[in-house]
Order: sequence, then C-alpha cells, then structure tokens
Amino acid sequence: MAENEVWVYSENKNVCLELLTAGKELSEKLNVPLASLVLGHGVKDVAEELSEHGPNKIYLIDHASLERFDSMSYAAAIETIVKQEKPKILLIGATKRGKELAGRLAARLNAGCMSECTEVDIGDDGSVIAKRAAYAGMAVATEKCKSTPAIVLLKPGRYEKAPSGGKGEIVELSLEIPEPSLKLIEFKPKEIKAVRVEEAEVVVLGGRGIKKREDFQMLEQLAEMLGGCVGCTRPIAADLGWYTEWVGLSGVAIKPKLYIGVGVSGAIQHVAGIKDSKVIVAINKDPEAPIFKSADYGIVGDLYEVIPELIKALKEVSKKEG
Ligand SMILES: Cc1cc2nc3c(=O)[nH]c(=O)nc-3n(C[C@H](O)[C@H](O)[C@H](O)COP(=O)(O)OP(=O)(O)OC[C@H]3O[C@@H](n4cnc5c(N)ncnc54)[C@H](O)[C@@H]3O)c2cc1C
Repeated sequence: MAENEVWVYSENKNVCLELLTAGKELSEKLNVPLASLVLGHGVKDVAEELSEHGPNKIYLIDHASLERFDSMSYAAAIETIVKQEKPKILLIGATKRGKELAGRLAARLNAGCMSECTEVDIGDDGSVIAKRAAYAGMAVATEKCKSTPAIVLLKPGRYEKAPSGGKGEIVELSLEIPEPSLKLIEFKPKEIKAVRVEEAEVVVLGGRGIKKREDFQMLEQLAEMLGGCVGCTRPIAADLGWYTEWVGLSGVAIKPKLYIGVGVSGAIQHVAGIKDSKVIVAINKDPEAPIFKSADYGIVGDLYEVIPELIKALKEVSKKEG
C-alpha cells in the first residue's frame, strides 16, 4: 500500500518533469515517497526516462486501450489505482487534456480539485494548499483542499524541470480498463511549429499593435534569426484567430532567455505569463505603455520602423561574422 504518497501525472513529458519538481518539495515536507504515473501503450521508455528524474517510484500502466488519450479510460484507470494505493496528493499538469482528466477523476473520487494553480504547498496542519490567480489576475487566491486525495491542477511553466539524478523503481500495474464509451472515428495530428512557445529560448511576441496577419511575417523572420519562435497576446489569438494559443494568465506561461514584446501594451494578465523571462524587451510607440514598467530594455517607436531596422542590423552582424 502506497498510502499518503505524492503522485504526479501529465501526458506531456516536459510538464511531468515540472510536476516532479513541485512534487519533490511536497514529498520532502511530508516525508513520503514521490511517484509518477505513466499511462499509455508501449510507453516503458517514457517510464524509464522519468524514473531518472527524482521520483521514488513510477507506476506504469501499459494497456492497448490507453494507446490514444481518452479522458474516460484514463480517469477510470487512475481511479482504480488511487482507490487501491490511496495517495495523499495527485498533481496533474493543467494542459487541455489534464484539465479534462482532473475534472472527471475528481467527480469519480468525490475529491476536491484545485484548478489553474500556480503554486502548491503543505500547510502547518499538513493540509494541501494551493495558490491561483483570481479576479482576472488582480488577486491571488489561497485555497486549502479538505479531501484525500487532493487533486491539484498545476499550470505548466511555473516550476523548473526536475534535473536528472537517482533511479526510481518502476512498478508495472495490470488493470482491467473498461472499453471507452466514445469511439474515435478519425485522428488528424495538429500542425505543430518546430519549437513550442513554452520551450523556446527566444520569444518574439506580437500584440494588437500589429495591424494585419501578414505583418506577423516580419516577427517570424526576426524570431528565426534569433533562433526562437513567435507568440501573441490573447486578443490576437482569441479575438482575431491569427494563432491558436496565447501567452498570459489565461494562456501559457513562458520564461525564455529573451522576450521581445512588439506592440504589446503590457496588461497585467499578459505580464503574469512573461514575468519570469530572463530579459524583457518592449517595443511600443506609446512611452506610457505599462509594458515598459516590466521591461529590462525599452524601445519607444513605431514597430513598423523598428522591426525592419532590427532585422537589417542582425543581417549585417551575421554577414560580418561570416
Ligand atoms: C480574465 C482575463 C484574462 C486574460 N488573459 C490574458 C492572457 O492570458 N494573455 C493576454 O495577452 N491577455 C489576456 N487578457 C487580456 C488583457 O487584459 C489585454 O486586453 C491584452 O493583453 C491586450 O493585448 P495587446 O497588448 O495585444 O493589445 P492592446 O492593449 O490594445 O495594446 C496594443 C499596444 O500596441 C501599441 N501600438 C499600437 N500601434 C503600434 C505601432 N505601430 N508600433 C508600436 N506600438 C504600437 C499601443 O501603444 C498599445 O500599447 C485577459 C483579460 C481578462 C479579463
């Protein structure tokens, strides 16, 4: 029996590594083992890799019915092992799939589920405490979970990835997985950019100062020259539909080595997702734009003049360097 353990799960390996860092802090405070769940089909290599990043154990459930993510089958499988092993905490990465899974799981287990959390900790009385933004990012809510297990959906990008070290034990579990009640008719992989914005070391991020979709091409050119990728603010994705995801409080959080905000005003909800960037550069024609308060370097000017100049200067540098 694994009573009171701290468990982590994400279908995304990088997010799982972040959860292992958060989970390690909790397991050390509680003085209990840390375990990671790996579900899927033919995923032993994932379990092997994660086992080298700090968990004491990996619970591996390898089953043909888990080949493709299906929140109902995955929730049923995790419910079974939670009831069997009785962990104290289950940290789940707040990805789209993680959110769907956590909701179903909490309902099945009649457990408390704290969503969109940015931090998790153990209170003086041993309870699980988590923080999340409230009132559109104007306040931080601190919540305490009263159930066991406590399910905590942790936003990606809040914790560093767990470094390699140690070797956790891989515990293979064989479970009866019920047939999913939904049948997958077609699967079309989404077109994915070479680098995901959360993982890029350089992010050139466009806001509403950019007037046309085509104008993002110059940001893409600049990003490519700097070895990074392009991101955007919420209105560009959610209102205009030029991109599918955005950066900020309600989008993804990023912490690149270099962030260049182009025509971005610096609303509090946007800054919440970029504040951990190592260097923040802002380009805005309004000297009073709030983004300058968060920036390490600011260029007051028209982006339609500044960006071509930057591209030109970078071309000259690379020509000189051969
Ligand atoms: C609950 C909630 C959650 C939210 N979550 C997010 C989130 O996760 N991410 C997010 O981004 N937003 C989020 N928002 C929206 C946020 O409040 C802002 O509305 C949004 O960030 C503004 O986007 P923007 O900076 O692109 O546009 P604007 O605020 O319109 O700013 C455009 C800027 O471009 C500058 N500009 C214009 N033309 C030029 C030019 N030619 N050259 C240089 N500069 C120029 C202007 O001076 C201005 O500062 C959220 C809002 C709410 C209520």
